[in-house]
Parts: sequence; structure tokens; C-alpha cells
Amino acid sequence: MILIVGGAGYIGSHLVKELVKREEVIVLDNLSTGHLEAVDKEALFVKGSLGDADILDSIFTRFPIKAVMHFAANSLVGESVVNPQKYYINNVASTLSLLSIMLKHNVNKFIFSSTAAVYGIPGEDLINESTATNPITPYGKSKLMMEQILADYSRAYDLHYVILRYFNAAGACETAEIGESHQPETHLIPIVLQHLLGMNERITIFGDNYNTTDGTCIRDYIHVSDLVDAHLLALDSLLNEKNKSATYNVGNGIGFSVKEVIETSEAITGRTANLVIEDRREGDPACLVASSEKIMKELGWQPRKNLEHILESAWRWHRNQNY
Ligand code: UDP
Repeated sequence: MILIVGGAGYIGSHLVKELVKREEVIVLDNLSTGHLEAVDKEALFVKGSLGDADILDSIFTRFPIKAVMHFAANSLVGESVVNPQKYYINNVASTLSLLSIMLKHNVNKFIFSSTAAVYGIPGEDLINESTATNPITPYGKSKLMMEQILADYSRAYDLHYVILRYFNAAGACETAEIGESHQPETHLIPIVLQHLLGMNERITIFGDNYNTTDGTCIRDYIHVSDLVDAHLLALDSLLNEKNKSATYNVGNGIGFSVKEVIETSEAITGRTANLVIEDRREGDPACLVASSEKIMKELGWQPRKNLEHILESAWRWHRNQNY
């Protein structure tokens, strides 16, 4: 059985939907940002927080957990700047408690969701795993701290991990049953598509004076199904003990500017967006694009979806919502 903490959230719920086809799955989620209806019915669901050591202890006592995947983090860069305590408690302290309980129960396989935010403002255009890490927000720092702790733990204890550094996850599953829904929404693609559905009068572009082709920030958008594939391969590598511990970027390797995302969304939906340019948002680097060669080479991962697929699938899902 595999324990998925945060399995009711955006990426976790997409992973659970695939994983139940091949493994028994138990989801622990406090539903603070996740959605119970997004959790596949084949999975066992426990409502509870990562920081609740008693619940975790009873899960590891009662179920034969082979591995843990951890999606239960707070992930808003701006919020982390104004409320760092929340990020260090939830993303670091609670994860340490999870690791202690795993070690106590001799569960030694761990997949950790990390982020491109660990790179801060990178010097290179194409980021690989040896690009210097220098996070500029408490969110990015909380993730890098956990990465460093995992490296120390795996050296000292019998613990094997795969760290996946996500670039910009987006899109929805093929059947459009589940998709990306945050409250409040801060991510570009849902904001653009919701606007094109009639919500919010305009889209705000945060800065058009960056040193990029059209002045707006460039990001590497990766379809959530491709991210799910990366997790399944990472799990296989740990279960088969092919791969001890490793850290991988997960992105498409192609960057799109904010303006390009909006233009492609307009083309796909046949609708026109109302735009306004405002000041830069704090903590936004100009360009974040991944080299994912390492995971392609070592785990055989291959992204299958481009920006059009991402936007089409997200559009299908958003159109089904009762906004
Ligand atoms: N962005 C924007 N307007 C919005 C939301 C986002 O211009 O309403 C920009 C943001 O400044 C960044 C890019 O879109 O350059 C992607 O932002 P998002 O929050 O989706 O992901 P992040 O890269 O911050 O994780």
C-alpha cells in the first residue's frame, strides 16, 4: 500500500487517479486546500493533518505502507513572504514529523514534491539539477531545507528518496473530471481561462519590462499527467531499488511568456482577453525553464503534452465548473 499525503490537492489527486490502477492507495489530507470529491473512490481516505503524529502513527501501525508520496505543502510564493511561519511549520516541521514516524515503522521510500523555486533567480537560461540553488522566498527555502534534510537522513539512515522539482504544473486529466482549482486562485493559466469564461473583468500581467523577448516572464508549463508519469517512474525506481536517491527537474524544456500563454488561450477558446499591465510581483524571476534530461535518461521519462494540450485540457475542465 502507498500513502499519499496531500492526495486531495491538484497534483496529488491526479496521481491518485492513476496509482489506484496498480497499487492499493491510502490518502491523508486535511482538506485545507484539497477537495474530497477529487479523491478517487478506489483509494482509502483519512481526513487529518500531516502534523498530527497520532493519526500518522496509527496509519503506519494499521497498514502495510511500502512508500510515501508527499504533496501536502503550502505553495504560494507571495503568501510565504507575508506568513513564513505557516510555511516553515507546514512544509518543514510537519514533514520532519512524517519522516520520524516513517523511520520508526521502517518505511524507507519517499517521494518529495519540490519546486523550481529552489533555484531563486538562476544565472542560466536552461536550468539543470546542478544549477546553484538560491531560493528567494520562504516557500522556496522551505522546500530546499527539506531537500537538504533528506540528503542528510539518507546518508545517516536507511532512507531512499526521489525529489521532483516541478516547474509550472498545469492542465487537467483527459476525462476532465478533475482539474486545477485553488481558493484564492493565483496561477496564470486558471486565471486566464476563468477570465475567458467571464469571471473577473481583466487579467493583470505582472510586469512587462523583464529582460525577455516580449518583456513578460517566461515559464516552463508541464502537464499534470506528465508530472504524474514522473511520479510513477520514481516510485518504480524506489520499489525496484534500481535507483537509491535522486533529485530531478520535471519540465518541458520550453518556455512561454505570460503574453504567449494568453494569446494561445485566446486562440484555443476563440475568445478575447482584457489585459492590464501592472507592477512586477515580488519574487518572480524573469525566466524559469528546465532541462529534464536527467530524469529522461535515468528513469526513461518523456513529456507527452505541449502548451496547447495543457490549455485544451484545462479549458475542458473549467467549462464544466459552475462558476
Ligand atoms: N502572472 C501574471 N498574472 C497573474 C498570475 C500570474 O502575470 O494573474 C505571471 C506571474 O507573474 C509569473 C507567471 O504568470 O510570471 C506564472 O505565474 P504562476 O503564479 O502561474 O506560477 P509561478 O511561476 O509563480 O509558480
